[in-house]
Parts: sequence; C-alpha cells; structure tokens
Amino acid sequence: MAETIFTKIVAGDIPCQRVFENEHVFAFLDINPLAEGHTLVIPKRAVARLEDLPAEELAAVTAVLPQLAKRILAATGAAAYNVLLNNGSEAGQEVQHVHFHIIPRKKGDGLGFRWNKKQVTAEELTALAERIAAQG
Ligand code: 5GP
Repeated sequence: MAETIFTKIVAGDIPCQRVFENEHVFAFLDINPLAEGHTLVIPKRAVARLEDLPAEELAAVTAVLPQLAKRILAATGAAAYNVLLNNGSEAGQEVQHVHFHIIPRKKGDGLGFRWNKKQVTAEELTALAERIAAQG
C-alpha cells in the first residue's frame, strides 16, 4: 500500500488528535486549522485522487460526514460548515491521500471562497453539457 503522511497518522507513527475511526475511515483535527474544529476525514487506504477511490471506500467515508459534522458543530458552537475536497494540485491538494475537510463556519469568520461567477450564454452551456455527457 502507498504510504502518505496520513497513512502514518492512521498507523500511529505520527501523532494526531483523532475524533473518529471505523474499519475504513479515520478522522482527525487538521494541524493548521482554518477554523476551530477543522477536521480531515480520510479513507484508511492511501488513494491520491477521488476518482480512483473505489465506490465502497468513498461511500464509507461520505457516510460518516454528516454525523461527524454534527458532533463538531455541537462541540464548537459553530452554526454551519463547509465540506471541501481539494482534488489535484491545481485545486490546492497538498497531501496525496483523499481527504474531506469539514470546516466549521461562524457568522463573520472571514473565511470564504473567491466565487467569481462568469457570464455565459445558454448556447455555451448547452454545448458544454453535451461535450461532458458524451465523454466515456
Ligand atoms: P490539502 O491542501 O491537501 O487539501 O490539505 C492538507 C491538509 O492536511 C492541510 O489542511 C494541512 O494543514 C493538513 N496536514 C498536513 N500535514 C498534517 C499532519 O501531519 N497532521 C495533521 N493533523 N494535519 C496535517
């Protein structure tokens, strides 16, 4: 199995603050949190990219997200949260082991995305949707 900093964390070779574990899934606090309670939820097996993670392992990871997020909100008093997955270095992925971020959010916390919406025509959207749908 490929080794990553996260497999070392799962194995206990690198310390972490664990908040959840089952057969396939491990969750622990991010060492450099964007907010109090920022948590990483990972498959125990190291797979770098989302599209390469077998469906059962992805299902196991995503199945725990809502309950875990609820616990994090209860523990931190946050009102909401973002679930984020950086998939590929251009998207900001630094650790080559699939991980969902749960990032608690509070009003006025100053976090956020640059959400620079673009104007496109209906024809452009139609052509693009057809191109995507036609991919194998
Ligand atoms: P990425 O940019 O790959 O989506 O996120 C990687 C995350 O892993 C970062 O938020 C970073 O702070 C966190 N991280 C990296 N190394 C460690 C570590 O050794 N321990 C913990 N708890 N978090 C880590």
